[in-house]
Amino acid sequence: MTIDSVCTYCGVGCEITANVTDQKINKIYARDNAEVSRGSLCIKGKEGFGFLYSDRKISNALIRKDFVERHQEICKNLNLSNEIQFQNDTFYKVEYSEAYKVVANKISEITSSYSAKAFASIGGARTNCESGYMFQKFTREIIGSPNVDNCARVCHSPSLKGMRKTIGEGAATNPFSDVENTEFVIIIGSNTTEAHPIVADKILKAKKNGKLDIATIDIRETQLFKNSKYGLVIPYEANLLLLNMLTFVILSENLENTDFIQKRTKYFDDLKKSILNDPFANPQFFNKISGYEYLAELIPKVAREYASKKSMIFWGLGITENFDGSYAVMAITHLALLTGNIGGSGVGLMPLRGQNNVQGACDMGMLPYYNPDYQKPKEIGLMTPQVFDAILNDEVKAIWNIGEDLAHIHPNQNKVQKALRKLDFLIVNEVMENEITKFADVIFGVKSGYEKTGVYVNAERRLHLSQPLINSDLPDDWEILQGVENHLENSWKYKSSKDVWQEVQEVVSNRYSGASYEKLEINRISGLQWPIQENETPILHLKDFRTKDGIAQFHYHQYKLRGQIKEILELGKSNSFYLSTGRNIIHYNNAVQTLATPRLEKLHNRDILLVSYEDKDIFQNTAFVKLKTEFGESGELPIKISKKIKKGTLFSTFHHSKSRINFLFGDEKDELISTAQFKSLKVEIIF
Ligand code: SF4
Repeated sequence: MTIDSVCTYCGVGCEITANVTDQKINKIYARDNAEVSRGSLCIKGKEGFGFLYSDRKISNALIRKDFVERHQEICKNLNLSNEIQFQNDTFYKVEYSEAYKVVANKISEITSSYSAKAFASIGGARTNCESGYMFQKFTREIIGSPNVDNCARVCHSPSLKGMRKTIGEGAATNPFSDVENTEFVIIIGSNTTEAHPIVADKILKAKKNGKLDIATIDIRETQLFKNSKYGLVIPYEANLLLLNMLTFVILSENLENTDFIQKRTKYFDDLKKSILNDPFANPQFFNKISGYEYLAELIPKVAREYASKKSMIFWGLGITENFDGSYAVMAITHLALLTGNIGGSGVGLMPLRGQNNVQGACDMGMLPYYNPDYQKPKEIGLMTPQVFDAILNDEVKAIWNIGEDLAHIHPNQNKVQKALRKLDFLIVNEVMENEITKFADVIFGVKSGYEKTGVYVNAERRLHLSQPLINSDLPDDWEILQGVENHLENSWKYKSSKDVWQEVQEVVSNRYSGASYEKLEINRISGLQWPIQENETPILHLKDFRTKDGIAQFHYHQYKLRGQIKEILELGKSNSFYLSTGRNIIHYNNAVQTLATPRLEKLHNRDILLVSYEDKDIFQNTAFVKLKTEFGESGELPIKISKKIKKGTLFSTFHHSKSRINFLFGDEKDELISTAQFKSLKVEIIF
């Protein structure tokens, strides 16, 4: 039997087809006529279903023994005969219905002893939209807490912020496939080949088939450099600097599209005045930055080509996970607005979102400052880093965490884990054992994306309706929320994910009103891009921007001298080591699902630290090092000397918890939206 659905790993959102016999998946592949995958899947998409058969998959509701002992009243009628060892702790396996009651009673105890705001919900970007919607509804309406957030906090919140500020909508403007219609692509801060492989495939196919040229900009030479007309290795924390320089060249050489600027934008004069008076905006500045002088010549070439051709910009976490990520996103939109490279086919802005449903979770209102459909909430809640501080300040007492491994993927893990240990109550919905389940009081095993029906929204706003590849008796996340709600207010009576979705269509009506299950079923292997009313909308901003008055805005922000560039400028060189982290193609984030697939585990079973060939003498007598900062220490990392990165540059993946990479980071974050600065960290090496 063959079953069509959607890959539940990354934000590319490839359509998949599974060959299944007797509840066993034999093979996953992509149909040639599928819109996103078009016959290709990356290794995770093809092979990453092995976790479904792993003994680390959670298939029960579990309550920590120690919690039961401390809460005899709440737990008094439980059937506690079924004691198990789970991750070195003792839990009771209980019926889901019993666990719902315990959770409801404990939440009530906390909110009545403190306040509703002592409760926070975090997650939802890995599960379907139906569950994300119910998660925020449970928190805001049933508990009365404004504290909801999802893992966009550690990835693309700056894209949402920067794009909404300038063009009124924080989402990709075009379909991925529009790269076939463009002439020039800038890829900045994205190792697309590893992090969004099928998008990289599309870019390379378009280059092979047409007239496309590529400029790739990163702190290291990523795989796409070899296919790029321009490859720019830049210093750490130089994104905003470089993007402003591109704007400077366009304006100083009169390459802007005056007609577009006049008709569709405002505050251009302010931008022009600011940039022409900015001491850092002229690319000649790089002549003073030893080792990076060549950028003074390359930046103007990229600017000229971008301005004179039909161009698109793709970016990833290399932009957003920085101190000035939101401002860098605004600088990206400036480039498109200045040159008219937006609002049409083959021109546009493409933030490459990470998680399979992070776009959906944001659309559903799993953000502290947006209700569903980006409406203003009654009260703004806490962002995840603020939640950790609030726990340490005795203000937050309970967290419900759905599909976001707080004890692995967030920065400053010493602080995070101190906060998690201090929590009075932690509920976790998870598919697999991971780091956060080690801290949980109650764990709900839930259906994975391969076992359920629901809507996922990929990084180009495309909705896909999934269907189960195999059957599972486990509940979906939204069913667990309803189970607990029924012990609190007993007002929810949803019978299926379709029931929930019909409500979502009404509440998120600006984007989803025409996206019925029936329509999504018919379009299962192509999906539909929002806003979906009668029809879908592949390209945004054709006539108007999605600002209140339909006009886009320029908001200039000057680069602040700091970090590696400051060191080189002041000392003539940098003697420091700076670390950047990211993903590789084999694994996904905390890697628990991919590591439970034997072949993927074999291909990449530990994180490796890339070290520059220019620094090889420093590392000549060692095969392993640890890294250290004032916040913490990593585990032991094998080193690999690479000619692809420049002196003083280090790169590591963060997939394996034993590497303790996120223990190194502190609280440095995007100024506006608190996304962690994972892309630049000064570290010491411990040999
Ligand atoms: S690119 Fe992403 S969505 Fe596509 S197969 Fe790979 S992991 Fe799945």
